[in-house]
Amino acid sequence: MKTINLHSSTILFGSTIEIKLDGSALIITDETIAPLYLSKIHIQAREVFTLILPQGEESKNFNTLQSILEYAIACNLDRKSTMIALGGGVISDLVGLASGLFMRGVDFYTIPTTLLAQVDASVGGKCAINAKQGKNLIGLFHHPKKVWINPLFLETLPIREFNAGMAEVIKMAICFDLELFDSLFDLQWVRNHLLEIIERSIQIKANIVLQDEKENHLRASLNYGHTFGHIIEQEGHYQRYLHGEAVAMGMVMANALASKITHFQEQKKVIKLLSLYHLPTHYEISDINSFYQALFLDKKTQNKQIKFILPKRIGDFGFFIPSKEEIMKTLSEFAK
Ligand code: NAD
Repeated sequence: MKTINLHSSTILFGSTIEIKLDGSALIITDETIAPLYLSKIHIQAREVFTLILPQGEESKNFNTLQSILEYAIACNLDRKSTMIALGGGVISDLVGLASGLFMRGVDFYTIPTTLLAQVDASVGGKCAINAKQGKNLIGLFHHPKKVWINPLFLETLPIREFNAGMAEVIKMAICFDLELFDSLFDLQWVRNHLLEIIERSIQIKANIVLQDEKENHLRASLNYGHTFGHIIEQEGHYQRYLHGEAVAMGMVMANALASKITHFQEQKKVIKLLSLYHLPTHYEISDINSFYQALFLDKKTQNKQIKFILPKRIGDFGFFIPSKEEIMKTLSEFAK
């Protein structure tokens, strides 16, 4: 069985999920995944508790975090207990954060059931909830001890969710992997090589996280498209667009900015690939001034300067601090 080690995480590929624990387990999932998969996860532990949360991005908030922590206390979990996240990126972000806070940190495992969580959210140790002012503003670094990657979960995933996961794959390909980028145009190849695509994406992420765990510099590259994307998500009240869809439009906006700074010339090729996966490629900004102000809440902003990850060409990128004029010019190209 193929495994990748990343800090304290062991990532297991295509394996049957058998969990044996000395302490208690709290498995946390959402209301969509529970009827599909809860009965298929076999856990041997002192006691096994289950918590089912409302599904979707709107759950990534203080109230849900509080409900997890209070349930853990009500179950008398202790420092030897393990929290298990069964679900997409919303569940792994919430459970990672809750387990990092509970009793100053207990172990957690992830069983990612969406493509997005398998290629990205379930590994790397970033866990966060959204604040009403912005996305992922409250969080910590806490690595899952084990991650089980099994593409069989994706068989029940709605196609819109699958495509949103492809946005994160495309993100990694644009920054790091020209060959993968070109291969993604062949839908049959993608269908036949799904496990390889997931492995390759995780390997890209692992290589980066090993060099820069706490996002002092290089890791920010995984945020390509997210600086704009997070505002798009927030303006849509986390309902209008899926995370991956907002990232897709965010990449198109980043590319428009890149064309002025790095002279990136492959904007149309990126739009073609995103469109192949039915991802949205144009966002209409209703108020460019408030959109500009919202950029300053990005976690990459330092001393009122926003650092952008911009492609130079497919497979290569850099970090840039554009001028207000360059940013505003780009935003005006997307104004209503
Ligand atoms: P999600 O967790 O909301 O899952 C998407 C939807 O699919 C949900 O409705 C869920 O119930 C359903 N679902 C999940 N698995 C299913 C299955 N196998 N069959 C049928 N339905 C299924 O969303 P997501 O796209 O997985 O994750 C998005 C989140 O991940 C965002 O909040 C984003 O910020 C976060 N994220 C975090 C990181 C990180 O490093 N921590 C990286 C990327 C994204």
